[in-house]
Amino acid sequence: MISRNLKQLASDLQWDEAEDSIYGSAQHLPCTIVEQPKSIAVVFYLPHLQEITKETLDSYFTKHASRYKITNLEFSDDFYFIRIKHSLIPLAKDKIMDLLLIASNLIQENQPDSVAYCAACGQPTEPGEFGLYQGFYCALHEHCPSLPDAADSPQAADIQISLDGEDIVPTDNLETENLRQ
Ligand SMILES: [Zn+2]
Repeated sequence: MISRNLKQLASDLQWDEAEDSIYGSAQHLPCTIVEQPKSIAVVFYLPHLQEITKETLDSYFTKHASRYKITNLEFSDDFYFIRIKHSLIPLAKDKIMDLLLIASNLIQENQPDSVAYCAACGQPTEPGEFGLYQGFYCALHEHCPSLPDAADSPQAADIQISLDGEDIVPTDNLETENLRQ
């Protein structure tokens, strides 16, 4: 369950809600805010993050850590995490909006094209082609998330072609058909 504070923020920003997060675009950058019992994490998807951008973000938010109750900054697997302490009095909605605006400005000043790579396959995406990947909002092709585990559609590797051109039906399918009879 997400707190009332974040629900309100999602509504103000016209973002979507998931079970324990809200997500949407912050000035065209895909962003997720994940709520945990003792912290919230503002997470930007930043593939090919340039060192200068990371340094700029690290330096700004280290300097202003107390204003935003920031406890930790981390870049991991193409995502930049800004962790904020979550206490009885949560960080005001306006301050979170402030933080989103500043962070997205700093990112765009340093690398304007940073979001245009699919989180699943790494290939370029169209502007605004976003989706949830492992719970985070990021650049994502519409067809990509289902590719690795499309259990109910036949995969190329399951179908073998014999030398004389006849299809060899995969054993799994035979068993399934026997069960249906
Ligand atoms: Zn893709």
